Amino acid sequence: MTSVNETKQKRQNRTVTLYLGNTLAEYQEMISTEEGMQTLIQQVETADSLNWGHLADGHHEGCPRRLRFTHHDGYARWTKHFDGTQELVTIIRVRCLDCEAVFTIQPSFIVRYKRYDTDAMEKFMVLLFITEDSYRMAGVGQALGMDTHQEGTWVALEKAGQDAISPTSLWGLVQWLGQLSPAQLNLALGVEPPTHIIEDEKHMKECGEKVYVPIVYAPKEALIWWTDYIDSVSEDSLLSSLERFKAISERLAHIVGANVDGWDPAQKALQKAFPEITLAECHLHAMIKLGQHLATFKRQRKAMGQPVSEQEETQIRAAFIRVLQAPTPTAYQKALDDLPSVFDNEPLASRKDSLVTKQALFQAWTTDAKLAVVSTPLDQCMKFLNRKQDNMQTLHGPKSGLATVNAWAITRNCWRFLKGALRAGLSPLELAGANFLGIPWMQLVNLVLCAWSTLALAAGALTIST
Ligand SMILES: [Zn+2]
Repeated sequence: MTSVNETKQKRQNRTVTLYLGNTLAEYQEMISTEEGMQTLIQQVETADSLNWGHLADGHHEGCPRRLRFTHHDGYARWTKHFDGTQELVTIIRVRCLDCEAVFTIQPSFIVRYKRYDTDAMEKFMVLLFITEDSYRMAGVGQALGMDTHQEGTWVALEKAGQDAISPTSLWGLVQWLGQLSPAQLNLALGVEPPTHIIEDEKHMKECGEKVYVPIVYAPKEALIWWTDYIDSVSEDSLLSSLERFKAISERLAHIVGANVDGWDPAQKALQKAFPEITLAECHLHAMIKLGQHLATFKRQRKAMGQPVSEQEETQIRAAFIRVLQAPTPTAYQKALDDLPSVFDNEPLASRKDSLVTKQALFQAWTTDAKLAVVSTPLDQCMKFLNRKQDNMQTLHGPKSGLATVNAWAITRNCWRFLKGALRAGLSPLELAGANFLGIPWMQLVNLVLCAWSTLALAAGALTIST
């Protein structure tokens, strides 16, 4: 992994990643002519003027950086495509005419220290995270897709055995992608930070231990902003997770509304992290809680020989919803007073109490129209994690667990809603205003990963430099 390479390479990293075409063929054609090579040099000079990646710290000390570069030399390396075939890529090195520093110019479809190109990586991530396969099955999906023998599944798997990706290699790619937080990519692509969010924590099991994945989600665009991987959902632990989110950029500190479930430590953590925040509690979660208590109530009444009729149950639910959905404080109070008398005794009395004590949380939507009434969209989005927790046996520890949920969130944010969906043809990131400029999203990820440390200096540089 990268850490190994880092210890080996004590010398200055002067690899600069630039967008130089969507495909290897486009790039090779470009560098095959003198004119194309000049275009490449110009791209380097523009990138240097923006302090892009290691151009920011790679010049020799005292270099005046007058943005003058020349073609130094080139070398060939292999790259592997999704179908398992390999091709040679010519990597160009350029030299600063002022200080003689030599920079390696890596086209953004190549990932440093990775054999597979970004096209392959993008497809693997979709196989793994969108089409709901496991690490092992993603390789099978790839093998079947590559098959040209038309002799059924087993021949296809056998023939692809050498070319199909192994679970371990795939895991390595996930770890690479997951170094990036969804918030970093969203910001780098020019998306405005969210003001109104849904926050929830997903409980997962890993090797018998409970772990939690808190998620910050912008409901309007269905965009995930933050995922984390923590071993407790105490107020302290959630607060430090939110502080890590805010540490990515000060622009992320202005959340003013959040829809949450009834978990008190999460509400407290959000209030501490975002002092201006208005909290709204999810109406659906309140209904689900009512349903649980209603089940107990029905059992008790049945045991007493007075079963609850269907009509009575409908009335109980409707009366409860009338409170939740009351548009004004007066209407809320009236609906509370109108609750049937069964709410005066346990097990339903606790539900009435929660309506009383949580009035502000349930009515928050009436004062801020941008607040979501229910957190259903996030619950939907989390379904993946529900299914995934059983077969992601390779999460292994908090660091790789975090990388895995980050990689999942980014893949999901970049994946376009398919035909037939309400927002078909656009990904959550694009709905939120990002323009991919016709560049495959894994290349954008690669560009952001290579330049994140200097991106703050060069706001909007990603779009300019491409
Ligand atoms: Zn220089």
